[in-house]
Amino acid sequence: MTTVNITKEYATMLDQQNKLKKYREEFYVQPGVIYFDGNSLGLLSKRAETTLLELLDSWKNFGIDGWLSGDHPWFYLSEKLGKMHEAIVGAKSGEVIVTGSTTSNLHQLVATFYKPEGKKTKILADELNFPSDIYALKSQLELQGFDPAEHLVQVKSRDGHTLAEEDIIAAMTDEIALIVLPSVLYRSGQILDMERLTAEAHKRGILIGFDLCHSVGSIPHALHDWDVDFAFWCTYKHLNGGPGSVGGLYVNEKHLGRAPGLAGWFSSKKEKQFDMEHTLTAAADASAFQVGTPHVLSLAPLIGSLSMFEETGMEAIREQSLALTDYFMTLIDEELSEYGFVMTNPHDEKSRGAHVFLVHEEAARICKALKEHNVIPDFRAPNGIRLAPVALYNTFEEVWEVVQVLKKIMKEELYKKFENKREVVA
Ligand SMILES: *Cc1c(COP(=O)(O)O)cnc(C)c1O
Repeated sequence: MTTVNITKEYATMLDQQNKLKKYREEFYVQPGVIYFDGNSLGLLSKRAETTLLELLDSWKNFGIDGWLSGDHPWFYLSEKLGKMHEAIVGAKSGEVIVTGSTTSNLHQLVATFYKPEGKKTKILADELNFPSDIYALKSQLELQGFDPAEHLVQVKSRDGHTLAEEDIIAAMTDEIALIVLPSVLYRSGQILDMERLTAEAHKRGILIGFDLCHSVGSIPHALHDWDVDFAFWCTYKHLNGGPGSVGGLYVNEKHLGRAPGLAGWFSSKKEKQFDMEHTLTAAADASAFQVGTPHVLSLAPLIGSLSMFEETGMEAIREQSLALTDYFMTLIDEELSEYGFVMTNPHDEKSRGAHVFLVHEEAARICKALKEHNVIPDFRAPNGIRLAPVALYNTFEEVWEVVQVLKKIMKEELYKKFENKREVVA
């Protein structure tokens, strides 16, 4: 290993070399605050603010005619934003629509793709996924009259933090009808090999979909080329769409034309929608998986925000993200080794997502002490600290600073004045 340079000057030098550095100025970064929680809620950018205000103006100026007038007619906005996602997720034209939320899109996709038949009645998931996904899968099983205790198979983790792809593949038995997995685990940040898992599922005649909440906007994807059947995600984390911004879904071209499991009038072919017939003529593309009227004001910031991803491309973002987390992990090893942190995110570049995950028994109150020092982390019960240096707006200097603050908090035991208990929203 090369010797590690732990000086602040080195961090400054790395920042000067950052090819994406101009983007930081496009975000509302609060002076004096180090925001390392962009994987829970990305920051507001000036572009996102501008397009939100533009759409408020279109309401102001056009009233009902905003559906078809102005620079961003509301009637086609979900499709337009779907198009803006194509390079981000590696989709072909017509495979993405921006609609619903992560959880409601999962419901839609399971309602569309889960067709229990004969022996194939089970859904395969994992024991580390985000609770909402598991609740959705269980309720979908119940709707079909199956007992989730028997029909939801959750692959176990060997170490409590990561999943072994061999274990997932071993669980792809002939009783499995559908597989739903995260692309990046929300706690440890482990990236699952979507291409490999998709190929293994298809060898066994199983459909497979991924929850991209922690990978969309942070790592490149090639969903179409990997032959993934479906995917879904939120846009308020790495895509910086704002609190509650509208989610996204992808359906592989080969499945387009399937009837949406949950239909509504926005599933319609656009030209037919206002014929008001009681027989649905569904759109021929992913538009068909919409249900009702789009949440226009929660779509609006994405027009501005996604334009940055279009400009940079995902490769540049990934390169900067890996450099930030690599530097971060090196400093943690170097400076914090005596304080009992266990870094449970994968270290290698192939399976490391965009955040670092530190486990510590005092995690809840260490997070409170970080906040007191103007560092915004993310606590994950019972004992995890998630720290995400975001490629578009965080810096190497901030990474350096966060490590210094953590060191001070541990050395001087500054966390001890807080209760080791989480807040309502953590
Ligand atoms: C953030 C997140 C969600 C949130 O679902 P919403 O429907 O957007 O509230 C679901 N799954 C995962 C893996 C997440 O990280």
